[in-house]
Amino acid sequence: MEKRRIYMDYSATTPVKKEVLDAMMPYLTDYFGNASSFHSFGREAKNALDKAREQVANLINAKPSEIYFTAGGSESDNWSLEGVAYSHKEKGNHIITSKIEHHAILHTCEYLEKHHGFEVTYLDVDSEGKISLEQLENAIKDSTILISIMFANNEIGTIQPIKEIGEIAKKHNILFHTDAVQAAGNIPIDIKELNIDLMSMSSHKIYGAKGVGALYIKTGTKLHNFVHGGAQEKRRRAGTENIPAIVGYGKAAEIAKDNMENHVTTLTRLRNKLIKGILDNIPYTTVNGSLEDRLPGNANFGFEFIEGEGILLMLDMLGIAASSGSACTSGSLDPSHVLMALGLPHEKAHGSLRLTVGDFTTEEDIDYIIENLPGVIERLRSMSPLYDKIKNQG
Ligand SMILES: *Cc1c(COP(=O)(O)O)cnc(C)c1O
Repeated sequence: MEKRRIYMDYSATTPVKKEVLDAMMPYLTDYFGNASSFHSFGREAKNALDKAREQVANLINAKPSEIYFTAGGSESDNWSLEGVAYSHKEKGNHIITSKIEHHAILHTCEYLEKHHGFEVTYLDVDSEGKISLEQLENAIKDSTILISIMFANNEIGTIQPIKEIGEIAKKHNILFHTDAVQAAGNIPIDIKELNIDLMSMSSHKIYGAKGVGALYIKTGTKLHNFVHGGAQEKRRRAGTENIPAIVGYGKAAEIAKDNMENHVTTLTRLRNKLIKGILDNIPYTTVNGSLEDRLPGNANFGFEFIEGEGILLMLDMLGIAASSGSACTSGSLDPSHVLMALGLPHEKAHGSLRLTVGDFTTEEDIDYIIENLPGVIERLRSMSPLYDKIKNQG
């Protein structure tokens, strides 16, 4: 019998949907042209590129002319920060971000501080992972050129008050970038209702291929180029376009848009069932992140007295693929910067487990986890002297 495998790591990446692969396939074989070429092969590629741009624009209600394809979320984040920093350095050198951003933002900020004389304010978050609008407004100076706050967090799923942040940015005439890699395609976004100037997106978090993404650049936004070379993407992002991946991304965006309501309801229901099942069956357990403003597919638990790595290993033996924010795997003994920013004590942050559901998650998958996780946690805790003591105290 084939071993049961359950994928509960949709926030790390998603499988490519069959319709997406079907859309991509011809562009790896028959329609292989370079979109810049002046012949029928080139035109086929160019038409496909135009269509995908429309599909991605549609997902967020933007104009196709505001969508620029990149090699993924990381490039879109790097481009936004460096592009704005270099093009606005006459105006000022101050950037505001948060402590719980993805490393594609945080490490770029550190680079700008260290090598280019920029000053960065890293906003705190509350125990649910939300920034304070008051703290944001207080952090603004005459030299502030950019606010970059993520739409939704990849570890704990918390969704930020993006509309309000955009209003503050607009009031102070500061550009606003948001890393929407986890949000765009997973929750409805109407860019016209939000004061966003730049927004990063990625294909492989919404059932498209890896290595492709997009940057939304609002019409009229000034920023330096990041990848230099040919005249692709209206001379703003060089490099022969990865047509098959871009076509797949367009298809994935179209599917996400068409199924948004069902996607959100189904994932939220499965996620809530999982959270309830775990909290009901495992003592000394908390949920990290906000219960209201949360990505539909995200569940993040804190299990006291144990380490996330141990949980991952035992779950993997049961065929369950999950993730932990308590990565000793990265060579560091510290829990993730996101969990630390929530103000969790070390011992709580260490026993964290992220389970993310997606479009292929079934009711049976959730049942299997609710059935098996309590035993895993109990076995690990039985090796903890601290847990032993607390149990014996009754
Ligand atoms: C995955 C992710 C990224 C990086 O996107 P890639 O396409 O993998 O480069 C950036 N930000 C967030 C919030 C993410 O979840």
